[in-house]
Amino acid sequence: MQVLIIDDDEVDFRSTRRMLTETFGAEVTLDWISDWNDATKAFAQSSYDVYLIDYFLGGRTGLELIETCDPSDKPSVFIFLTGHDDRKVDVAATNAGAAGYLVKSDITASTLERTIRYALFMARKKEELRQEMIAVKAAKDIVERQSEMHAKMANDLSATQAKLQTALDSAEESEAKYRNLAQHDLLTELPNRVLFMSQLERMIDNSHRSGKNMALLLLDLDRFKSINDSLGHPVGDRLLMQVARRLTNCIRKTDTVARLGGDEFAVIVTNLQSHEDTAIVAQHIIESLTESFEIEGHEINTSASIGIAVLNEDSNTVDALLKNADAALYKAKGAGRGIYHFFDAALNNQVRTITLLKRELSEALEHHQFFLEYQPQIETATNKVTGVEALVRWQHPTRGRVPPCDFIPTAESTGQIAAMSEWILKEACSQSVVWEAMFGRSIPVAVNLSAIQFKRGRLVETIATILSGTGLPPASLTLEITETVMIHDVDEVEMQLRDLVALGVKIAIDDFGTGYSSLAHLRQLPIDQIKVDRSFVSDMLSNHRDAAVVEAVIALGRNLGVTVVAEGVETIEQMDYLRKMPSIDAQGFFIARPMQPDQCQNWLSKNLRPELEMPAAIPLAHTTGKLRLTP
Ligand code: C2E
Ligand code: MG
Ligand code: MG
Repeated sequence: MQVLIIDDDEVDFRSTRRMLTETFGAEVTLDWISDWNDATKAFAQSSYDVYLIDYFLGGRTGLELIETCDPSDKPSVFIFLTGHDDRKVDVAATNAGAAGYLVKSDITASTLERTIRYALFMARKKEELRQEMIAVKAAKDIVERQSEMHAKMANDLSATQAKLQTALDSAEESEAKYRNLAQHDLLTELPNRVLFMSQLERMIDNSHRSGKNMALLLLDLDRFKSINDSLGHPVGDRLLMQVARRLTNCIRKTDTVARLGGDEFAVIVTNLQSHEDTAIVAQHIIESLTESFEIEGHEINTSASIGIAVLNEDSNTVDALLKNADAALYKAKGAGRGIYHFFDAALNNQVRTITLLKRELSEALEHHQFFLEYQPQIETATNKVTGVEALVRWQHPTRGRVPPCDFIPTAESTGQIAAMSEWILKEACSQSVVWEAMFGRSIPVAVNLSAIQFKRGRLVETIATILSGTGLPPASLTLEITETVMIHDVDEVEMQLRDLVALGVKIAIDDFGTGYSSLAHLRQLPIDQIKVDRSFVSDMLSNHRDAAVVEAVIALGRNLGVTVVAEGVETIEQMDYLRKMPSIDAQGFFIARPMQPDQCQNWLSKNLRPELEMPAAIPLAHTTGKLRLTP
């Protein structure tokens, strides 16, 4: 250990040296400086382990000495020795970095030794910490440098990644374009035959799986060749492009249209509810293509022939569907232009009839071809008129009068029944209001409803609107429903019936005994009347079973507190038989046939005479000859 003693007093120096050699022995080598200038030089060199500095050096102080050197060159261990114990100096010395401040008079060898050793220990520790700090800082610098490097690397990588992504995108785009080219028709951009075949196969599979109907339509433009020849290929090409656009507009997103080549297109329609749906699509396509095209100043008129094959046992593969649709197309072309043809002959007829009927029904409503006839109902015991049933008729412009059984089922299946029924209800209610005013008593009217009306639409609201619109008291309207309504959701039907009853209208079960009879439902539903079907009435005199049914229904009606009407009473014998029953109303040709309003009015005016409304079998006045009641 090398120690420098800076002291201007030799006696003090000797004393200090003695104490040091006493305690440190050979461990220590000593130098002594007494002059201020030498001291500043030695101090600046900082080559000693320990500096023992006399605080008062001539006129100067140890603190001044320390200030002469650069702070970074300051010795690590310096201890002030002083003649005076001065607290202020002590604090200043410590602040300046002194490891100790010893009062000379108090110094002993051991305090000096302890102070030096402790100062050295602390210096070492400090040095170690400093080294650690340096190491940490170096590590930190390295990390920071690496982070910078990593950030740069990350940036570079991002840039590279972006470049690669762009390259990949354009590669994929080219691939997609290439694939698109391979699977699409260049001119119309529709799927070509290759893609169409795979789509057809997929759609057949889907249909088999879902159980939903699908159909293939093959389509050929009428007169395309002559257009091409006369106006040139560029015009022909433009026409094909426009045809493709119109075809695409005719189909749903889930369906497919493809160009198979030349003027031949194919359409795959899926998820069909009925075959009529296919016919509707085909008709729509034909109508759309029949509208003229405007190309390069030419007005071009064309149309299409369509062959249709529906997925079924005869056509359940790609090949069979194509072959059969093609055969149907051939027939369509042979039968004239601008028409569609189903491969299946029976289907073709059926669809054609229904489609035609559907169109005619729409026209019938528009052109007021429907009208109502009214058939009276009476109380058998008194001949009192209880009301009339409204029955719809269709005066077809070419076929003449069409019975309801020939068009109601189609109107039901197409949903047209709702609009029809609305008209019927309005008409019947208005008529009843007119008669009530005319005869000074209510002429209740019964209107038939279809079961389907309970499923679709807003039956209750419609009827409420009609009642308030016509001013008919709700109690004067009976709605006839058949047992088939119960096939549908009975709870739903019941809810609507209750709403109707709440309006004040009456409910009758029509054709009772022919349909899905459930006594439980009969009890559950709010019914006012049961109409025994004609078939029981017509045979009740010859067939005791039918008679038993009629009697049982009468008993049932009585127990349920509802009126019973026998339908289809045609003879006096039947009438007499019914009159013997406890209480039953009747309707049938024997009383009156369904009549046009003026005829019925006539009938009513003759049969509503108050004297007739008493308990006796008084003859009814017939307006139509033949059926005459004998007293
Ligand atoms: P329905 O409601 O049972 O109507 C009674 C049918 O029996 C009527 O046939 C009527 O002409 C016929 N009829 C009445 N008395 C006799 C008779 O003594 N002998 C025979 N053989 N027949 C008689 P129509 O008018 O052909 O109606 C048939 C069915 O069509 C009706 O049966 C009803 O279910 C339905 N229908 C009629 N009009 C409408 C309507 O406006 N809406 C709805 N949804 N269905 C209606
Ligand atoms: Mg009826
Ligand atoms: Mg009936």
